[in-house]
Amino acid sequence: MIPFSPPRMDKKIADAVVEALYSGWITTGPRTKQFEKMLTEYGGHAATLCVSSGSAGLELMLRWFGIQEGDEVIVPAYTYCATANVVVHCGAKVVFVDAGEDFNVSLKAIEKAITLRTKAIIPVDVAGFPCDYDTINALVKRSDMLKQFRPATREQELLGRILVLSDAAHSIGGQYKGKRTGNLTDVTVYSFHAVKNLTTAEGGAVCLNLPPPFDNEAVYGKLNIASLHGQTKDALAKTQIGSWRYDIVEAGYKYNMTDLQAAMGMVELGRYDADMLPRRKAIFHRYADTISNYPWAQLPTFETPEKTSSYHVFLLRIRGITKEQRDRIIAGIFRREVAVNVHFVPLPLMSYYKDAGYRMPDYPVSFDNFSREITLPVYYDLTDEMVDTVVRAVVEAVEEVVR
Ligand SMILES: *Cc1c(COP(=O)(O)O)cnc(C)c1O
Repeated sequence: MIPFSPPRMDKKIADAVVEALYSGWITTGPRTKQFEKMLTEYGGHAATLCVSSGSAGLELMLRWFGIQEGDEVIVPAYTYCATANVVVHCGAKVVFVDAGEDFNVSLKAIEKAITLRTKAIIPVDVAGFPCDYDTINALVKRSDMLKQFRPATREQELLGRILVLSDAAHSIGGQYKGKRTGNLTDVTVYSFHAVKNLTTAEGGAVCLNLPPPFDNEAVYGKLNIASLHGQTKDALAKTQIGSWRYDIVEAGYKYNMTDLQAAMGMVELGRYDADMLPRRKAIFHRYADTISNYPWAQLPTFETPEKTSSYHVFLLRIRGITKEQRDRIIAGIFRREVAVNVHFVPLPLMSYYKDAGYRMPDYPVSFDNFSREITLPVYYDLTDEMVDTVVRAVVEAVEEVVR
């Protein structure tokens, strides 16, 4: 069986984790702080806070911005549940918008969904392909949008407009107009979950890139405290002589990253551009080159003059099929000992959101993308021969069902 997404694991990672284990400091400490600096340098944004997951990072930022009951947050219908669930946690209303042909959120749909209550937009770089951030950033800064924005907290007043919080769970290393994700909008959140391009088993990072008058270092300090119960000193600082006294300045969260995770992350980030991205890129090109010969194949866009994907997962669509045919094709691929997936089942199809009143027919492009989509595996240890096996399984399974 060709698995779908095993993490890249080797002695270098194991050694780094063992070294951290014996260092005398296993939770948030020097390694986490060093990993944060590496991530800031890599993304080119202003400051990075490492957290326990991408979901935690998204929620931390919504809470920081004061998102609450009565507010609306625009979320793609075509994403993983984390993007929307964090909005629900804050008591705000999720406003789903449809996808475009490239799987990313439709910019026209965003514009139509904005109301007087809109406080944030969470675009998702689906499969690692960055959204059109210039268009999204220009939209929230348009004079009519600025005029109708109703700030309710100090942070909202300082920003003076809708926050653009990018869900870059798939897209670390992806580029738009020569800049990396992290540096493309106000705030970007990475996920380091086991299936993501860069993994720390579980983990995430908040990339701060807020415009003036915000001081990103000061915001980092505030978030750092908020991610550790609102405690003014972390455990490491409290070990210094005479430093036992601390205060709790807010009822914060327990969202910190451990140094064991950071140890893994530093090894991975250190070789990410030299090693991980080129391998993923080669796999994407091999899929594209071989599958494009088939008239039923609709390939994803992953490179344009302006954008480069982080090559997270390969979202193949089959032309002219129903959801039932797609499901049969997937069964056929699994019978050939190849694991594939579907990214994503749109959230309005999920019980919780369906019961909350969202209707799938309101998001026709998302449904069409989903119903014809099969996600092909992309990971470091997937060899060219394995790629060819995947393609063979897909071709046979499609031709079995479509003929
Ligand atoms: C994985 C993922 C997340 C959540 O990341 P975690 O680190 O698992 O919390 C958020 N959004 C999208 C699109 C994801 O795929």
